[in-house]
Amino acid sequence: MRILVTGGAGFIGSHLCEQLLKDGDDVLCLDNFYTGSKDNIRHLMSSDRFELIRHDVIGPVLLEVDRIFHFACPASPVHYQYNPVKTIKTSVMGTINMLGLAKRVKARILLASTSEIYGDPEVHPQPESYWGNVNPIGRRSCYDEGKRVAETLMMDYYRQNKVDIKIARIFNTYGPRMALNDGRVVSNFIVQALKGEDITIYGDGSQTRSFQYVDDLLTGTFRFMDTEDFIGPVNLGNPVEFTIKELAQKVIDLTGSSSKMVDKPLPSDDPTQRQPDISLAKEKLDWEPKVGLEEGLKKTIGYFEAQLRSKK
Ligand code: NAD
Ligand code: UDP
Repeated sequence: MRILVTGGAGFIGSHLCEQLLKDGDDVLCLDNFYTGSKDNIRHLMSSDRFELIRHDVIGPVLLEVDRIFHFACPASPVHYQYNPVKTIKTSVMGTINMLGLAKRVKARILLASTSEIYGDPEVHPQPESYWGNVNPIGRRSCYDEGKRVAETLMMDYYRQNKVDIKIARIFNTYGPRMALNDGRVVSNFIVQALKGEDITIYGDGSQTRSFQYVDDLLTGTFRFMDTEDFIGPVNLGNPVEFTIKELAQKVIDLTGSSSKMVDKPLPSDDPTQRQPDISLAKEKLDWEPKVGLEEGLKKTIGYFEAQLRSKK
């Protein structure tokens, strides 16, 4: 198949491109390199089944493809809040453009939605039936509300135009190829620990997240894309929940770092808790994560060690 991966030079997108090539597909990787990097896909460029398109999803694009993995959007709060108007345009106009493309060429399209659509959840863990608790006017709204509109667009193109859609709600995912300056918690803590710098705990570190290793996300995403008659939304995440302080301690232990934890202000609207209910994914995709936090962190630490060595 000819498969389009938007955001294909990013952390998750580059893993998708790599696996699709391994599976024998033709891959069109589309990216504007806002947070992505050619370094993530350089090793794929020698394949004649791989094409790189520098393009911004805010503008329409004419391509012929069978499937679309729509992953283009900055995902780290630091990056999506840097230019919030651009972020919401990416989610809204980008998703309209990709749905228009899917409609024209009759391609199946999978949206990378997010656990952020649940906001600061009052239902715990979060099932897909929960409508969320999102501040519409806060600093995170450009991302949260952007993805909520993207989901709405997916459903309306499905109901109105019979576009073949899939909505994946992805929970905090980490692994190799996160950028050194990504700004999300796992990469921040690992890089800080490896450099012997202070580990920055926002707030008191009692807020929780549930961390999924990228390989597990890939398995779930591909299984979902291959389903017939199941459009989601479906949660894809690891249900094992940790406080941010517990994560920091694990990173310190695994790196053997002498770094100390320091408190920093909690950003506004930072969700206090997050944990996926993955019953639906288990039932419909026969899927659940296999990689525990320690194993995933070890692999990610190895990646960042190599990155920091090569930057010296
Ligand atoms: P990332 O920042 O590494 O990747 C995003 C990619 O999209 C980058 O390559 C970036 O250059 C590209 N991009 C951004 N805006 C674009 C635009 N307007 N046009 C074209 N390309 C653009 O982040 P990631 O973690 O790999 O996230 C990928 C997708 O998965 C995002 O849509 C994100 O919302 C979603 N997601 C990720 C997580 C996670 O924990 N990693 C969780 C939920 C959802
Ligand atoms: N966080 C932190 N220190 C950091 C980066 C993040 O304590 O250096 C916290 C952040 O406040 C949040 C959690 O870690 O409570 C997860 O943050 P991240 O940006 O990774 O993702 P999100 O908040 O979108 O889940």
